[in-house]
Amino acid sequence: MTKPKVAFYWCASCGGCEEAVVDLAEDILKVVDAIDIVLWPVAMDFKKSDIEAMADGSIAVSFINGSVRTSEQDEWVKLLRKKSGLVVAFGACSHLGGIPGLANLSSRQQLLDTVYVQVPTVNNPNKIYPQTICTVAEGELELPAIHEEVRTLDQVIDVDYYLPGCAPPPNLIMDAVLAILSGNLPEKGTVLALDKSLCDTCPRKESKPDKLKISDVKRISMTIIPEDKCFLAEGVICLGPATRSGCGERCINANMPCRGCFGPTKAVQDQGAKFLSGFSSLFDSEDEAEINAFAESVIDPAGLFYMFSLASSLKAKFHDRS
Ligand code: SF4
Ligand code: SF4
Repeated sequence: MTKPKVAFYWCASCGGCEEAVVDLAEDILKVVDAIDIVLWPVAMDFKKSDIEAMADGSIAVSFINGSVRTSEQDEWVKLLRKKSGLVVAFGACSHLGGIPGLANLSSRQQLLDTVYVQVPTVNNPNKIYPQTICTVAEGELELPAIHEEVRTLDQVIDVDYYLPGCAPPPNLIMDAVLAILSGNLPEKGTVLALDKSLCDTCPRKESKPDKLKISDVKRISMTIIPEDKCFLAEGVICLGPATRSGCGERCINANMPCRGCFGPTKAVQDQGAKFLSGFSSLFDSEDEAEINAFAESVIDPAGLFYMFSLASSLKAKFHDRS
């Protein structure tokens, strides 16, 4: 019997999603036995021409991790879309933009200036930036172009399903693979995890009062939170109220607050705005000066509230991109 063909590809990502596949441990043997891997750049040597030569739609499913920032990533995801029956956005960067999406707080030129000119360890007096075409004795070398913005996978191609998380937990990956192999799939566009907020499944939820009020914001690095207490009730920012459950409360169980990598539930359009709106109502004061001091005590609110979802949520320009 012909096994279904499966591709794994990575765009702008840290490689953690690739490790999550390996974290399937002995289950990976069941997966490898049931499928025919036709592309997995991190582990095996396949060429782009191998994929180009395949018939359109002949790959059963492509799992694509990472956000899309370069012309090369653009080309690859469009090629995989053409060759695949199903495309799964694998992990937070592909799903929401992830940590790389925070680059959308700066323009492309600001980022290039920082990395190639301004950092103290760089010596580049002639301000030489990477070029897409570079002429050398042997001919022309071509590098991928860097786009102005980081994009989620579904801002570039049509996506069938989303596996959330930084990185997706092995049990969700296995469930998704089994569902795809059996054809027992939910509605297109589904995020393959619980549609509940993390607070609903959190082991600390009993210590979160119904009417929560706080008088100051504490930093997790500067305070000790008892292991049975709700972080928010103790004044430590936890994105659980605005985040989808399904990760197994990984951070909470390690006594760290949630940072939102599973993204929002279906009912929420913009995870950062959802958290900001709930958070604003927590402060227990009517005094304007106190309210301002409370707001200013949140260090890097955009980076915190949109840590994983900025590329998917940003509706306005934060800066001049000219
Ligand atoms: S705010 Fe955080 S710690 Fe508190 S119940 Fe929700 S997920 Fe748990
Ligand atoms: S607790 Fe939050 S940040 Fe941590 S893995 Fe779960 S969803 Fe992601």
